[in-house]
Amino acid sequence: MMDYLNYIGGKWTESKSRETYKHYNPANPSECFGTTVVATVEEVDSAVIHAKQAFLQWKQLSPVTRGEFLRKAADLLEQQTEEIAKIATKEMGKRFVEMKGEVARAAMILRYFAQEGMRKMGELLPSVNPQNTLYSLRVPLGVVSVITPWNFPVAIPIWKIAPALVYGNTVVWKPAQESGITAVKIAEVFERAGLPEGVLNLVMGSGATVGNALVEHPNTAAVTFTGSNQVGREIASKAVAQNKKFQLELGGKNPAVVLADADLDLAAKLTIEGAMKQTGQRCTATSRVYVEQSIYDTFVDKLLTEVKQIKVGDGLDETVNMGPVASKNQFDTVSSYIAKGVEEGAQLLFGGQCLEGPTFNGGYFIEPTIFGQVTNEMTIAREEIFGPVLAVVKVADYSEALAKANDTMYGLSASLFTTSLDKAFHFIENSEVGMVQINGETGGAEPQAPFGGMKESSSGTREQGQAAVEFFTAYKTVSITS
Ligand code: NAP
Repeated sequence: MMDYLNYIGGKWTESKSRETYKHYNPANPSECFGTTVVATVEEVDSAVIHAKQAFLQWKQLSPVTRGEFLRKAADLLEQQTEEIAKIATKEMGKRFVEMKGEVARAAMILRYFAQEGMRKMGELLPSVNPQNTLYSLRVPLGVVSVITPWNFPVAIPIWKIAPALVYGNTVVWKPAQESGITAVKIAEVFERAGLPEGVLNLVMGSGATVGNALVEHPNTAAVTFTGSNQVGREIASKAVAQNKKFQLELGGKNPAVVLADADLDLAAKLTIEGAMKQTGQRCTATSRVYVEQSIYDTFVDKLLTEVKQIKVGDGLDETVNMGPVASKNQFDTVSSYIAKGVEEGAQLLFGGQCLEGPTFNGGYFIEPTIFGQVTNEMTIAREEIFGPVLAVVKVADYSEALAKANDTMYGLSASLFTTSLDKAFHFIENSEVGMVQINGETGGAEPQAPFGGMKESSSGTREQGQAAVEFFTAYKTVSITS
């Protein structure tokens, strides 16, 4: 079996480490379908040096020209949708149908940022001195480190790499090891789009070694990271110590609130989709639902009707609606949270079991799980589980629901199901999250809308849309006296 290589300075490069990472299918862990090389710290250094050299020419190109590379990459990515989606499904279990949707979204993001290259990159400002021409410019930062997780192995890297490139930066990218082959396929797309050597570099390996070397490298100007809070905090403190710009997209514990006046069928359908889609492994997954006591029993019945329709299995099978969790590690973590829910006295309403037997090939399958009679003090209501587990909490009214929904260190996304316009606007104003949905499932939005959270879910600068320019450029103020 051939190893997939790092991409450094426009060349596919073996690693001196001789170490490799084996990729196993979480739906059938006896199937090893590829190996990726593991970069050394010296190879990370080489990637940064190439990116630094490439920056000198890349930043001279017009953003409109840089956008053309993104447009070409979008076309090529689309042509390879099935191949890339299938690899990603095998790497981390996400359903093939969902993966095809993710690739389509990534192509849309590339086209969006290609177009952003045509937007104004500065402003003429008034000056008190008539001899003075005063203006501001948006300029690139230099080499940007991009560190990404496995759960959106195509869209998350693209929504960082596309703005980084169009605004004139060069990139060294470290994907999660689990999704390394998908990352190689994305780098190939950019190579075939004709991106000049060194503009995008791919280095694979563990976060502790390769990721850390990138964060600490003196020649990287900024780091954009999506992943866990623990790693995010480490990266932030290192970036601050070196006065580097950083952007963090971290965890979530996203609440839905269901009021008695809501369309309960819609609310139940979207709560289950929000919780179980992608096997609950989304930072924006619905993990808590606060339900008014007058409709609690009815709503729970509706949740059970919805959840019973979920067929669990290999994500390559298009009749399946929920795949495995991504790895043994995820399997153990989610199983331990389910055990904790039972131990702390929550009522197991549905699921809770690992799925075994010949149909499941020893894969990392967990039933979609719903707990009732949960309180906000329980671990399953407080910690991010990152799996198919939903906690249902009974509340007296909207005020209690809002207070409990906000009672968390996270602040990514929240949704409210209601037909009351007053409550909807109150919730929009008072829910402590970066992304609010009214009568919709928790989640992000289209590529032109800012993506990110409040509190400990994000560092503040948003991804996607025009907000991305804030992170990937710096202001330069120019004053010309004639
Ligand atoms: P993770 O363990 O923090 O890993 C994320 C990335 O960081 C991986 O590439 C990882 O490498 C790397 N890394 C690990 N330690 C590092 C270090 N010391 N220095 C530099 N890089 C390091 O997160 P995950 O388990 O993959 O992803 C799940 C988490 O991501 C959840 O908390 C989820 O909510 C969050 N997430 C957030 C968003 C958002 O937009 N807010 C979106 C998706 C996911 P290796 O894993 O290869 O070692």
